[in-house]
Amino acid sequence: MNIGVDDRFSAIYNFLTFFIHSFIPGLYRYLYIPHRLPSYSAMSPSSTAPLPSLILVSSCLLGSPVRYDASHKRSHHDVLQRWITDGKVIAVCPELAGGLPVPRPSAEISRAAGGKAVWLQQAHVVDNQGDDVTPAFVTGAEEALRLAQQYNIQIAILKEGSPSCGSSQIYDGSFSGNRIPGAGVTTTLLREAGLHVFSEEQIDQAHALLQQLERSSQGE
Ligand code: SF4
Repeated sequence: MNIGVDDRFSAIYNFLTFFIHSFIPGLYRYLYIPHRLPSYSAMSPSSTAPLPSLILVSSCLLGSPVRYDASHKRSHHDVLQRWITDGKVIAVCPELAGGLPVPRPSAEISRAAGGKAVWLQQAHVVDNQGDDVTPAFVTGAEEALRLAQQYNIQIAILKEGSPSCGSSQIYDGSFSGNRIPGAGVTTTLLREAGLHVFSEEQIDQAHALLQQLERSSQGE
C-alpha cells in the first residue's frame, strides 16, 4: 500500500493536534495544580523525619498565572518570601484543581451567599456566562483539603475576595463588583476541618500563629 505525501502530512497533523489538545493542558495542570515548590519535593509524608510546619498558599499569590484572566496576584511579603526559601509552602489553586481552565469566565457565589450555603446546597457558584460551576469548586476545595491533611497543614494563606479562596470578603453574585462579608467554598471547607485561614493581608498574623504552634509542638 502506498502512502502519499498528503497522507503522511495528514497523519503528522493529526498527531500534533492530538498532542496539543491532550498533553499540553495536562502539563499545564501538572505545573500548577497543586503547584509544589521545588524545595518541597524532597519531603514525603511517609518520611520518618518530622515535617516542618507547612503553609498552604493560593497559587496566584505565589505568582502563578492561574486567575480567571490568566493573571496572578503575587505577594512580595517578606514572611512569605522566607517561607518559600525555607521550603515551607505548598501551593494550590482550587479552581484548577477542580478542573477549570485558564483563562475561564469569572464566577461568583449566587444570591449574596457564602461558601457555607454552597456546601449546604442552598447556593451555587455561577460564572458570568450563567453556567453552574459548583461541581468544579467543590472538587477543588476537596483537593485543597486533601493536600492540607496529607501534609498536616494547619495554616492557609488564601487570596481574599475569591469565590474559592476568600476568607472574609467575597463578591455578592451580581457581577457588579459589590463585595460582602463572607468566605469562599475552599476556605469554608478548610475552616470546617480546623485549619486557620488567613488572607494575603494577614500574613503577619499567620506568622505569629505559626510560631505559637511550633513552640507548643516543641513542648515550650
Ligand atoms: S484565588 Fe484561589 S482559586 Fe482563584 S486563582 Fe487564586 S488560587 Fe486559584
